[in-house]
Amino acid sequence: MLLRVVLEKVDIVTRSILSLTHEEIEAWCLEIGEKRFRADQIRRWLFENRAESFDAMLDLSKAFREKLKESFTLFSAEVVAHQVATDLTEKLLLKMPGGDTVECVLMREPDRRTICISTQVGCAMGCVFCASGMLGLKRNLGREEILEQILRLDRLLDDDERLTNIVVMGIGEPLQNLPTLLPVLDDVTNPKGLGLSPRRITISTVGLPEKIRELAAVGKPYNLAVSLHAPTDRASRLNSSRSTTRSASPRFSKPRTSTSQRAAGVSLLSMCCLAV
Ligand code: SF4
Repeated sequence: MLLRVVLEKVDIVTRSILSLTHEEIEAWCLEIGEKRFRADQIRRWLFENRAESFDAMLDLSKAFREKLKESFTLFSAEVVAHQVATDLTEKLLLKMPGGDTVECVLMREPDRRTICISTQVGCAMGCVFCASGMLGLKRNLGREEILEQILRLDRLLDDDERLTNIVVMGIGEPLQNLPTLLPVLDDVTNPKGLGLSPRRITISTVGLPEKIRELAAVGKPYNLAVSLHAPTDRASRLNSSRSTTRSASPRFSKPRTSTSQRAAGVSLLSMCCLAV
């Protein structure tokens, strides 16, 4: 019994506040007797003020900050490597609490600050040129793990720099983790979040027709980057079969979809992207 209580306590303490939606943070505030608007203050510190700790959230009472520290961590991953290139591109290697690692990157161009984030540990797509897919998919990243990449990279920017673009092109096939990715992007595009336009977010895919339709149905003007990797279905299948360390790509093990159907999926999204 005592062990269970201790384990539950450990679980609560190691839970990142980023795993909670805004509504869930509001509910937690009410549950502990705080006002609902405290959640707005927390959101400002997380997204606008780039707080590195709960202690930095200075318009919250000390007692409330202590309660936050007892209940949550701000970030949950450990930065195990931080590389800075001569062109000021920065790469973070994050180690998640379970030991899995993912990479994310900040790129500086004269008029842009673009980050590239990962959505999965490993990848099931098996593109022959890609080391990330060599061992197949281990798991989808959670909400807090995707959001942490964004917020940690945002915190690498100087005070006068603002994030301008996000490309979801890191490790993993983003469309296979849409239920987690989309709410994160909602937070990022929310004016009370990072306030980034959906038009400045690009989601990359190897081309999963059903998932592309699912994304199109969301009705947000995200950009879609389709990496076909080969000019024809046959060439793609040959590429896929050259990989010996994993099963065939789900892209081709599913019931066949014609090129025209795939194109229809893309154009559907394009219409969605361009219509707003
Ligand atoms: S979809 Fe991306 S991460 Fe997955 S194997 Fe292909 S290139 Fe690698």
